[in-house]
Amino acid sequence: MGPTSTTAGDEPRAETRSEPNDPEPNDSEPNEPESALETARRQLQHAADHLDIDPNVVERLKHPKRVHEVTVPIEREDGDVAVYTGYRAQHDSVRGPYKGGLRYHPDVTREECVGLGMWMTWKCAVMDIPFGGAKGGIAVNPKDLTDEETERLTRRFTDEIRAVIGPTTDIPAPDMGTDPQTMAWLMDAYSMQEGETIPGVVTGKPPVVGGSEGRDEAPGRSVAIVAREAVDYYGKAIGETSVAVQGFGSVGANAATLLDDWGANVVAVSDVTGGVYDPDGLDTRAIPSHREEPEAVMTHEAPGTVTNDALLELDVDVVIPAAIGNVLTADNADDVAADIVIEGANGPTTSAASEVFAERDVPVIPDILANAGGVTVSYFEWLQDINRRAWSLDRVNDELETEMLDAWGDVRDEFEARDVTWRDAAYIVALSRIAEAHEARGLWP
Ligand code: GLU
Repeated sequence: MGPTSTTAGDEPRAETRSEPNDPEPNDSEPNEPESALETARRQLQHAADHLDIDPNVVERLKHPKRVHEVTVPIEREDGDVAVYTGYRAQHDSVRGPYKGGLRYHPDVTREECVGLGMWMTWKCAVMDIPFGGAKGGIAVNPKDLTDEETERLTRRFTDEIRAVIGPTTDIPAPDMGTDPQTMAWLMDAYSMQEGETIPGVVTGKPPVVGGSEGRDEAPGRSVAIVAREAVDYYGKAIGETSVAVQGFGSVGANAATLLDDWGANVVAVSDVTGGVYDPDGLDTRAIPSHREEPEAVMTHEAPGTVTNDALLELDVDVVIPAAIGNVLTADNADDVAADIVIEGANGPTTSAASEVFAERDVPVIPDILANAGGVTVSYFEWLQDINRRAWSLDRVNDELETEMLDAWGDVRDEFEARDVTWRDAAYIVALSRIAEAHEARGLWP
């Protein structure tokens, strides 16, 4: 189908995060959208069914090791005190310290952090980097806070979780609603309390305080690399490939511009306000990214516009949902016309939609592989921090390319050997490594 114009009253998909529009079977609350934890548990069980692993290890992996819940009070500019709730869910550390982002978003819950933390465990294992999985965040709309209030919130939150994070225990990073500046405040707050500068406590910092060159761009770069490999695998030249990208934040904007640089025809991109469309290909570098000018995609002159819903159904070769979770559901999976789906966001496809894509034979390259460039360059950053030696941008990008191609190859081998979906193949790679580590270490005591 073709694009449609954004009309008044159209609710952009990117704003409908908690809309109960997902009829995914859910025994307890049939009208609720599937939670990240439910999706993560189903995906785990699905992959485990293909593997000869101890069911006790699978059962253990359905639960987090521990979840920290803290109260974060801050003084607002007007002198009032606002009280927020923060979380850090630590899922599994059998392969190394907990690793994962911190999210500032009104919908952050304990359960969401656990589900997202599980995905980090698989993501690190599929990339074969020596970290476990965690996720955390604060239930807050960062748009409601001034920069000073956000700084105060971050410093107080850091203090509340200080005992459970650290460069060898749990290493946070940016996620939705947080950025390199947030990580710099976290690093400073932690270091001031510890009495020494400890850059390795957090990744995704600005390079001037121990951040890695290329970290910011890395999740989008890995999405672009995986898209390029998938397109090649299915026998198409990148120069003849049309692409639609939902979301123009760090992941979407970097993926879109790199694919554009490599010759793909990026016909549509969107942010929370809607999208722009050009069947001849957009000049993606001319569109302001979220960092340059938030929510400004629609200010770009283009022949057409497209809603966030319609973008996912465009007749393109590759569609990349790179905004938020649960946008591909049983409601629209049949209408997705793209030949390949590359998951840029974490958890954009519900379990019911995954089944539809499997029946339709539409390859869905999963988030835990596609956007894993973020945590991979986080690992590079952590190595640089420990060694007190920075790498050049070229070195970071070269090593990222190697790691992505290795992981892509491991997943492709399972995909071909077992005749499963790409998601199951990625889970099989990850789960085998985690289960092997659990079996080698055994249960304490
Ligand atoms: N938040 C990112 C993710 O979901 C990066 C996590 C990290 O670098 O630790 O993968």
